[in-house]
Amino acid sequence: MDLGNRRVNGHITSDVLETTVNKFSKLSTETDVECKTASSSVASNKISSESTSRTRKQYPRKRTEYIEWPDYFMAVAFLSAQRSKDPSTQVGACIVNPDNKIVGIGYNGMPNGCPDDDLPWGKDSEDWLDRKYPYVCHAEMNAIMNKNSADVKGCTMYVAMFPCNECAKLIIQAGIRDVVYYSDKNRCKPEYVASQRLFTMTGVTVRQYKPSRNRIVIDFSDIDAQCMAAVHQEVDGRDNNDVS
Ligand SMILES: [Zn+2]
Repeated sequence: MDLGNRRVNGHITSDVLETTVNKFSKLSTETDVECKTASSSVASNKISSESTSRTRKQYPRKRTEYIEWPDYFMAVAFLSAQRSKDPSTQVGACIVNPDNKIVGIGYNGMPNGCPDDDLPWGKDSEDWLDRKYPYVCHAEMNAIMNKNSADVKGCTMYVAMFPCNECAKLIIQAGIRDVVYYSDKNRCKPEYVASQRLFTMTGVTVRQYKPSRNRIVIDFSDIDAQCMAAVHQEVDGRDNNDVS
């Protein structure tokens, strides 16, 4: 019912408007042109004034000390390495997709369900079975297995150390196309020569990470310090306003 009324009212209003427009258009087309020109000029002035006020407005500038993507991803790899219980080598890996989203993180450790204290962590025992090597899962493997996306095809892996041949095989099979590593101290060992060979054959890009800064410090108390600094700034601002 309401809808019908509105429709009827709409027709009436429309007819009245049409008649009025026809009536005035007969009086002077020149006046219409002048009016239109005047109104478009007003609109143009309004837009121009708005855009000027927009360009004149001064926003606070963004901070410039933020960390770049590569530093961020390598830092995530290094941070996750801190979870490792390996007494001699802590390695972390971080897999990133082409949209700069982290899709997998891992560090070296014993397989799921194997108690850390029931397996050896040493590397020099005479018996191979008493060394860590047969048991430890490398960071690269864990990062791939921990992926939170359907796959890691076309992704980049940031890893603290140049991958061994076993990890190189996993990286290739998973479809990862780029490897960014920090340390290549083991590169002359046969298993690392083999991994380089595999990467070259499959076209996986391998490059050493060049940090833009040497240290990224995480200080949990920073956030409170920042809040307090903001509060002090606000209070100081108010005091200054009171004075003026
Ligand atoms: Zn490995």
